[in-house]
Amino acid sequence: MSRCGAAAVLGAGIMGSSVALLLARRGVRVSLIDAAAEPFAGASRWNEGKIHLGYLYGADPSLATARALIPGGLRFRGIVEQLLDRRLPDAVVTPHGDRYVIHRRSVASAEQVWALAQRISALTRAHESAQEYFGPLEPPRLLSRREIDASYDGDTIVAAIEVPERSVSTPPIADWFVDALHGTPGIEIVVQHRVARVSEHRGQWMVHTQEGSLGPFDAVVNALWEGRPAVDATVGLATADAWTHRYRVSIFARTKRPVDVRSAVIAVGPFGDVKSYDGTSLYLSWYDAGLLVESHDLQAPRVPALSGTDAQRVADETFARLAGIVKGVGDVRERVDTLAVRGGWVYAVGRGGLSDARSGLHRRDRVGALARRRYFSVDTGKYSIAPALALQVADAIA
Ligand SMILES: Cc1cc2nc3c(=O)[nH]c(=O)nc-3n(C[C@H](O)[C@H](O)[C@H](O)COP(=O)(O)OP(=O)(O)OC[C@H]3O[C@@H](n4cnc5c(N)ncnc54)[C@H](O)[C@@H]3O)c2cc1C
Repeated sequence: MSRCGAAAVLGAGIMGSSVALLLARRGVRVSLIDAAAEPFAGASRWNEGKIHLGYLYGADPSLATARALIPGGLRFRGIVEQLLDRRLPDAVVTPHGDRYVIHRRSVASAEQVWALAQRISALTRAHESAQEYFGPLEPPRLLSRREIDASYDGDTIVAAIEVPERSVSTPPIADWFVDALHGTPGIEIVVQHRVARVSEHRGQWMVHTQEGSLGPFDAVVNALWEGRPAVDATVGLATADAWTHRYRVSIFARTKRPVDVRSAVIAVGPFGDVKSYDGTSLYLSWYDAGLLVESHDLQAPRVPALSGTDAQRVADETFARLAGIVKGVGDVRERVDTLAVRGGWVYAVGRGGLSDARSGLHRRDRVGALARRRYFSVDTGKYSIAPALALQVADAIA
């Protein structure tokens, strides 16, 4: 294959931006194209930032999801620090491991989740990149009944497991990515251009946006996330048999004074999470309250900006549902200084709901890059594995 001189990268979330930085540093001229007014405007800025080791996928006993997520999760910190050319400060990383608190209506039993956690722990600890994670990979620990009752509603929570999984605060990391994009020679950032299709003529690619055509390029990387399948179809790349686009929002809060609440995921099913990055910066979600749109169309529908009233409704329901289960959430609400209800699209292969144990949404192993000559289409799958996937794509191109 001839050397790649110019590439179009479609979508400036964590996937497209990581690919753009990697290619530009290898001497490829990159046009990074996005419909939004700035890079990192969607899911990659506004998500929980769990750097998955696979524990969330307690309804996938095959361990396929854990195996798919572990290598990228373990290497996340190292690759991102190289991309950003800075160390991630402690303040943006949760100081403790997460707790999986098992709801009495969980789609996987506490015994199943505990057994899976042991197997995932063994996989992570034996991995060659084990030392690269944020903290030591301690074995999972079952909380005592007394510990459960001290922190959670004992009628709702039947068991709780502490695991070494950490999360990062995604908004500051988004800002550092944008700085890196602007500071890297060879990257042209093309915003407010909505990609409609891609065409090829004699090994050269053109990108057609609603605002005009761009190119020619030697290679194209489609990292459009929710916009990806529709553009793939224009180059004849097959989409999955079934997929779901979901637009989800959550609460990103800052409190005036630190609050004493440990990060917890209410599992397994359509419940919620509380994340405390440094005691004053928090993420709170309740699945049903924050799920605004669900679609199985090839092209995800446009989502209008959330009105103040709708944002308030999501925040009220999220706080109310979580406060009924996690003690300390009431304190968060009382001490809130600033609060944003934000989110983005989630694209996933499969259909069904999280309350159905057989739903494909409980798996995230069928992700990664598909290629047709020098057109690459990447299903990011998760924020946590994007940098490692981007490295694979950049290696394949450059
Ligand atoms: C509420 C929430 C919580 C989450 N929590 C976690 C978590 O804890 N851990 C984790 O690993 N993952 C999590 N995720 C998933 C994670 O956010 C995504 O997997 C990841 O950010 C996707 O990155 P991306 O770069 O592929 O997509 P995006 O960040 O969505 O970027 C895609 C870009 O493409 C642009 N675009 C789309 N269509 C077009 C078009 N036609 N033309 C031009 N531009 C277009 C968009 O404007 C966008 O900027 C969460 C997601 C949400 C919404």
